Amino acid sequence: MNKMTVRDLSFAAKRVLLRVDFNVPLDGQKVLDDTRIRAAVPTIQFILEQQPRSLILMSHLGRPKGRRVPELSLAPVAPVLAKYLDLDVAFADDCIGGNADSMIDALPRSGLILLENTRFHPGETKNDRDFAGQLARHGEIFVNDAFGSAHRAHASNVGLSQTMTAVAGLLLEKEIDYLSTTIEDPQRPFVALLGGAKVSGKIDVIEALLGKVEALLVGGGMANTFFAAQGRDMADSLVEREALDIARDLLAKARNKLLLPIDQRIADAFDNNAAQQVLDAAADLPSGWQSLDIGPATIGFYARQLSGAKTIVWNGPMGVFEMPSFAKGTIGIARALANETANGATTIVGGGDSAAAVEQAGLADQISHISTGGGASLELLEGKTLPGLAALADR
Ligand code: AMP
Repeated sequence: MNKMTVRDLSFAAKRVLLRVDFNVPLDGQKVLDDTRIRAAVPTIQFILEQQPRSLILMSHLGRPKGRRVPELSLAPVAPVLAKYLDLDVAFADDCIGGNADSMIDALPRSGLILLENTRFHPGETKNDRDFAGQLARHGEIFVNDAFGSAHRAHASNVGLSQTMTAVAGLLLEKEIDYLSTTIEDPQRPFVALLGGAKVSGKIDVIEALLGKVEALLVGGGMANTFFAAQGRDMADSLVEREALDIARDLLAKARNKLLLPIDQRIADAFDNNAAQQVLDAAADLPSGWQSLDIGPATIGFYARQLSGAKTIVWNGPMGVFEMPSFAKGTIGIARALANETANGATTIVGGGDSAAAVEQAGLADQISHISTGGGASLELLEGKTLPGLAALADR
């Protein structure tokens, strides 16, 4: 990476501002998935080992749209972080202003504080200079470790980077290493898997990957749009009618590189308990039925395509994995990736649903890298520059 990182600076006796990604799912008062909190721990520990004057943590959570929304408070995150660090973590109920200032001043040597949701202020998403300036007053060095929001140009990442020395944290560095460096110059064969609901959100990533991979395996609702573009009757399946032309173009451009399922698990309703059957991909769907997962033959077919690959990237579930009856395809693919990791492949899972599916299947420790960012990881796969990264000091 051509950007400076925490390894390039000394933090001793400094007030360090750290932007983390604590945008975690919450159930009222409780953190439902603490993956992102755990992912921030190495950078926090790295800085604390150098005994800074203080370490001030910032994050956004959800989309409060510039207002104080109590359900989107970061308060429940502080005790979870304290547990993983085995340290006290103070919490300030606003990220700027007198109370935050005095709490930061009152911290013991190397004390930690988490500030309230930056998006409670409208200046955050507007990358407002004045708001960034108020945040900047808290520290002398800025570390950005929030990969999940690096595709946004907001005050707490880009704005702050423009006011003081700004470097990447260890998580941001690791994400870039896997999702950008590895993929720019991949070990071959390089195979990608794409799933999820829609083609339209992933056109750029399909085009970018087609230029790089030996094979692109498609699953999920997205496959239905490609099938419909080929003239197959998909009955009640999720098909993006407005993306049919694009799908046809992509198929033509891809020649034989883009592979579609050879069978699908179809159902007579969008329901975990619906009647289901496995249908060959050559056949039209019966009226009233819809495709909700890839079928067992496709799991085997895709596993054979992955076998022997040296680099594998996966983004998007193979079916409606939220319903156990239609999670088999996604879990089967997660297993195939785990097998290839054991065979020496570098396996990378893009954030969001596919990452959750790998966690659910208990296979997270058998994947080389699971990204903490959904949107940011897609933009990197598309070959885009992330503003949050671009704003950091060059090496
Ligand atoms: P995305 O955000 O585009 O990655 O889409 C993820 C969503 O796609 C998940 O909520 C899945 O339930 C959904 N999905 C995957 N396969 C299908 C399918 N065959 N029909 C409808 N939705 C699907």
